[in-house]
Amino acid sequence: MITISKEDYLKAIAEAEDEGETVISATLAHWLGVTRPAVTTALKRLKKDGMVAVKNDGRIQLTPQGRQVAERIIFRHLLIERMLSEIFGMPWYEVHDEAERLEHAVSPAFEKKLVEKLGNKDTCPHGNSLSLRSPAERRKKGQCLLSEAQPGTPYRVASIYERDRKLLDFLEHEGIRPGTQLSIRDRNYDGTLSLAIERKMIRLGVPAAERVWVKKS
Ligand SMILES: [Zn+2]
Repeated sequence: MITISKEDYLKAIAEAEDEGETVISATLAHWLGVTRPAVTTALKRLKKDGMVAVKNDGRIQLTPQGRQVAERIIFRHLLIERMLSEIFGMPWYEVHDEAERLEHAVSPAFEKKLVEKLGNKDTCPHGNSLSLRSPAERRKKGQCLLSEAQPGTPYRVASIYERDRKLLDFLEHEGIRPGTQLSIRDRNYDGTLSLAIERKMIRLGVPAAERVWVKKS
């Protein structure tokens, strides 16, 4: 029996690996908002269960078995987000936190029901998809970060980093959500971008612009 916190660790390691980050215990402490000693204890247990391997230099990697458990949770997360959004009409910026809690309670039978009901679309309400997870894969598909986009060119928001609720609320408030059409008017001296979004202009700082993937439209 895998407990919720173990599943969270495995998922965090898988997601950090997918984002191309080197996973060390500091990465995990940061991602999960826990202390370093808590990470050490959890890793010890996960190692004993054959879910992770820790290299001599401290790098943490999932074993094939750990990867399998993580992928299952990531898939269930996407299904729950889609259920909340498509069946219950919950706004896109709220579904991630809810899915973080519910994903652990999904049984294989309920998972099957969800797939039957929702179909096989592999994109979540944030625009993130199971088949396009690493920055390298996204670039191959013609996406770039909003912070790197070319001024004057029209873009469409492809996806948004979903693990930061404050960021999602902020972007929603500014009118930036998956599918939004925008273009950069100017890169300002203070590092912000002047963006034309539909009929309004906003200024957006780089920390937010680095969390948004766009594609030329
Ligand atoms: Zn999502």
